[in-house]
Amino acid sequence: MLAIVIMVEHTLVLIKPDGLKRLLTGSILTKLAGAQLMIIGAKVVRVDENLARQHYRHLSDKPFFDELVKYITGDIHGEEFSRILAFVYRGEDAIAKIRKITGATNPEEADPTSIRGSFGRITTTGVFENVVHSSGTPEEAEREIKLWFQPREIVCNIYPVRETESGIIWAWPDN
Ligand code: UDP
Ligand code: MG
Repeated sequence: MLAIVIMVEHTLVLIKPDGLKRLLTGSILTKLAGAQLMIIGAKVVRVDENLARQHYRHLSDKPFFDELVKYITGDIHGEEFSRILAFVYRGEDAIAKIRKITGATNPEEADPTSIRGSFGRITTTGVFENVVHSSGTPEEAEREIKLWFQPREIVCNIYPVRETESGIIWAWPDN
C-alpha cells in the first residue's frame, strides 16, 4: 500500500516597515491567500534593536547588517512606521508555498508577480527593501515563531510548552 505523508508546516511572515508605510498590507495578504493556508497567529509589533539583531543574527557578519537592523526597526521609515505585522501560517508545505509567493531576496531577481518582485526595491545604500520576510526552513521557522510569538498568542499547539510561575512559555525557546 502506498502511504502519502502530508507535511503540515508552520512559517513566520513579517510585513516590514516599508510594506506598512506604502499601504501594501491588503495587497500582500491577498497574494499570500493564494497559498490557501490558515493564519494561526497575527499581531503588530514594535521592533527594538535586540529583537532585530536576534531575528537576523545569521547575517551579523555581513557589511549591510547595521543598515538591515535600521530597516527592520523602522529607523529608516520614521517613528510612525516603526512597526511590523507578524503572522504565523499553518498548512501543508507552508514554508515553500509562502516562499514562492514572497519571491527571491533581491527584488530585481524576484519573479515579477511575487510580492518582492511587485513591490520591492534596492535602496541607495544597497539594502534590499523587499517588503516581507518569510521563514526559509522548518528549523528557521521554529526559531523565528518562538522569537516573535508567545504560546498563548497562537491558536494551535505547535511546539512543546512548559508552565512557569509567570505563565506558559516555549519549552525550548532558542532552537
Ligand atoms: N539583505 C540585503 N542584502 C543582501 C542580502 C539580504 O539587504 O545581499 C536583506 C534583505 O532585506 C533580506 C534580509 O536581509 O530579506 C535577510 O536576508 P536573507 O538572506 O535571510 O534573505 P531572505 O530569507 O529574507 O530572502
Ligand atoms: Mg532568510
